[in-house]
Amino acid sequence: MREVDFTLSAGPTAASARTLAALGSPITYHYDPEFLDAFRRTERKVASIFRTESSVVMMQGEAVLGLEAAARGLVRPGDKVLNLVSGVFGKGMGMWLTDFGADLHEIEVPYDDVIDPGDVERFLESNPDTTMVAVVHCETPSGTATDVASIGRIAAARGVLTLVDCVSSVGGMAFEVDEWGLDVCVLGPQKCLGGPPGMSLMSVSERAWEVMEKNPQAPRGSFLSLLDWKRTWFGEGRFPFTPSVVDVHGVESVCDQILEEGVDASIARHAAAASACRAGVAAMGLRIWPRSEAIAANCVTSIAVPDGLDHDRIRSHARERYGVMLSGGQGAGNLVRIGHMGPTANGLHPVVGLLALGRSLLDMGAHVDVGAGVEAALASIAARSGAS
Ligand SMILES: *Cc1c(COP(=O)(O)O)cnc(C)c1O
Repeated sequence: MREVDFTLSAGPTAASARTLAALGSPITYHYDPEFLDAFRRTERKVASIFRTESSVVMMQGEAVLGLEAAARGLVRPGDKVLNLVSGVFGKGMGMWLTDFGADLHEIEVPYDDVIDPGDVERFLESNPDTTMVAVVHCETPSGTATDVASIGRIAAARGVLTLVDCVSSVGGMAFEVDEWGLDVCVLGPQKCLGGPPGMSLMSVSERAWEVMEKNPQAPRGSFLSLLDWKRTWFGEGRFPFTPSVVDVHGVESVCDQILEEGVDASIARHAAAASACRAGVAAMGLRIWPRSEAIAANCVTSIAVPDGLDHDRIRSHARERYGVMLSGGQGAGNLVRIGHMGPTANGLHPVVGLLALGRSLLDMGAHVDVGAGVEAALASIAARSGAS
């Protein structure tokens, strides 16, 4: 199998040289005072990227661990929970919530659409006993972005907790934990931060801690326990289990990189990459998967596969012939995704993604105008750089 030249997937994404160097840091004892300092500094850096004064918990394990830990900790059997489903990750959250005993209610839309905050407001009006709303910010498989700013404020105004999967959006799209009144948010460093895929970075509000403390079902003495982190790490300065010291150095490095650039500048960079990519898709004669450009996420572009072709075959062709790794639909539909996350939300990366996709489709007999797509993407990039 040939080596890949460009990793333009929807996470894990290609890491910068600086991140790779940090991941090559010495493996030390986790109670080495230097590591303890690094761990505490990293928590504060994550908090400033989240834009929160709340506590930050950094669990060792890919973001699915943090999502499950949060859901288990927050749900008591019989709690009325509203789960918002606009894609694969929202659907999965509903299965967990049911497993953990929630009285589950869902608002579900097709996976090329997003949740209307007005529907959430109406549900909470007629169901004032709802305890929590679970929502996914960017449904990465379908490339859509839900209005968590509005949903967070609607829930907070009624004292309803929010559990937010912002695994793929933070750093690539505006995300304001405190401003939007969010309770538990889970971020994965391997998406828009361009870091290693081994940690769950979470913000936890005071209200969320209170609910967990009072929940007899919340995990305790468990790898999935947030309360263990509160008691041992925040309370006694002991880790509940050993973190991978190298992952922590990698996460600190990606936090440094985004904070030096500026979180807003990083968000603008992702927006520019997404615009270029979408312009290219349209000019090539293809269609983005989301119902409208207004709901398209800025960290990944999902593209509908032309009739008669299959996303897996297109992706393996793009990789084998052109050395470009793209992502598939992950169960959301017959679509291909070009990730523009972290270091790949930059320069000509989106153009390379368009070239690989367009030329592969052409090779497979589809009618696409690769040249027009590339021109449109370049024009979008040129217009933005001319403006700055
Ligand atoms: C990446 C991602 C996760 C983590 O899930 P994996 O399948 O383990 O990658 C969770 N939620 C969202 C929205 C993601 O993009």
